[in-house]
Amino acid sequence: MKQQKIAILGAGPSGLAQLRAFEAARQAGVQNLPEVVCYEKQNDIGGMWNYTWRTGLDKNGEPVHGSMYRYLWSNGPKECLEFADYSFDEHFGQAIPSYPPRAVLKDYIMGRIDKAAIFKYIRFECPVRWVTYDESSKMFTVTVMNHKTGEQETNEFDYVVVATGHFSTPNMPYFEGLEQFPGRVLHAHDFRDALEYENQNVLLVGASYSAEDIGSQCFKYGAKSVTISYRSNPIGFDWPEGMAERPLLTHLEGDIGHFADGTSKQFDSIVMCTGYLFHFPFMPDELRLQTHNCLYPDNLYKGIFFQPNPKLIYLGMQDQYYTFNMFDAQAWYARDVILGQIALPEADARQQDMQTWLARHEQLSGCHDSIDFQASYIRDLLGPTDYPDFAVEEQGELFKQWLQDKEENIMAFREKSYTSTVTGTLATQLPAPWLAIKDDSLESFMSLDFIESNTLDKID
Ligand SMILES: Cc1cc2nc3c(=O)[nH]c(=O)nc-3n(C[C@H](O)[C@H](O)[C@H](O)COP(=O)(O)OP(=O)(O)OC[C@H]3O[C@@H](n4cnc5c(N)ncnc54)[C@H](O)[C@@H]3O)c2cc1C
Repeated sequence: MKQQKIAILGAGPSGLAQLRAFEAARQAGVQNLPEVVCYEKQNDIGGMWNYTWRTGLDKNGEPVHGSMYRYLWSNGPKECLEFADYSFDEHFGQAIPSYPPRAVLKDYIMGRIDKAAIFKYIRFECPVRWVTYDESSKMFTVTVMNHKTGEQETNEFDYVVVATGHFSTPNMPYFEGLEQFPGRVLHAHDFRDALEYENQNVLLVGASYSAEDIGSQCFKYGAKSVTISYRSNPIGFDWPEGMAERPLLTHLEGDIGHFADGTSKQFDSIVMCTGYLFHFPFMPDELRLQTHNCLYPDNLYKGIFFQPNPKLIYLGMQDQYYTFNMFDAQAWYARDVILGQIALPEADARQQDMQTWLARHEQLSGCHDSIDFQASYIRDLLGPTDYPDFAVEEQGELFKQWLQDKEENIMAFREKSYTSTVTGTLATQLPAPWLAIKDDSLESFMSLDFIESNTLDKID
């Protein structure tokens, strides 16, 4: 039998999950595995978790992928993303707090990667330029720009796995008067260092995670004031003095922002926290997933297989409560379909299955419902594969606790401790308030004297 060829586009957490899934099969002695090639635009693995100071274009003239910033801490409890087969205890050799900074979390995520085994499949600095599918040969053609050689390369594949993320291409709104605003106007994608906004009046447009977190960062690092402007509903936290929400910005006059409630305020900088576009410039229309950020994108059977052509696989395209362990569940399922261990139903049956999920998706009301929905989506994927079972629903309960903790104190929720569903270890506590810990480096964080959590903090 001819050996199949698989192209994985992107070596972020989703693409790495796919590589690991195949590697796990190889190590388990599965025969006739496909040849796998992973094309990655950056010069390292990690995707969004690779912090870069760059904005705009990278050294090869490619759009910078990263949207993460300095001082970014995990926005959810680490216990909700812990790998079933690789615990935090195993990685760090000690208990650590529930909300680590980015560098610490990255160290954990990447700690599981067997670089020697995985790197050989990855072609770095090779952005994908174009993908086509030939109905007669049933093969994809993938064209990449190899920046290391300066030449384009074209190869054929049986399957294409798109794992290029969807938090990179800014959705940038316009407000009258922006042209004359004398300060800096940027999208959250280009936000890097909160210290830049020290002593400034900062306006954030948007009412989602980015506004919430960038606002908290600016407050933490000394902004004079932070104003969050919402379109439909305020975020509604009990913000500290110096932070406030206002309805939608209507227009600007010089450095004065005017809001829908008739109020106005002077600003020094504006950060558009207005979300991201799903952007696949390397895909022709007939292969391009067209969706917005939601828990069940239409046209993806099992949230993975492109309905018009299920040999095209999209990973990590959902809005995310669960992240790394969900990507794993998807990657293991996709692998088993490719290997023929899970049979893909006919188009009608796939459509019906999607409709059932989409109907449930439409009925979702509120965050708890959404968490339960994503948990059952993951549960559905886990069943037929040999991915180690994990406490999906229990982790869902931790997410609900997290929401409540944020409600109670948005500036202190990162001081809470949760119990690992993998090891039963109760996370230690930060030795100082989150607002007071300003160095987010791995070395600095790991040299803190974490405090044993007392039983009162234990989440049932
Ligand atoms: C500001 C911010 C904060 C976040 N905080 C958290 C958090 O605290 N906890 C959490 O769990 N998640 C968080 N996330 C979500 C984060 O996106 C996921 O954790 C994870 O990185 C998604 O993995 P991915 O592989 O699907 O996509 P990405 O991490 O985005 O990786 C995609 C990869 O594809 C590559 N690529 C893109 N285009 C091409 C191309 N044309 N050719 C080749 N390669 C290409 C990119 O270079 C990148 O390496 C955050 C996201 C953002 C933006």
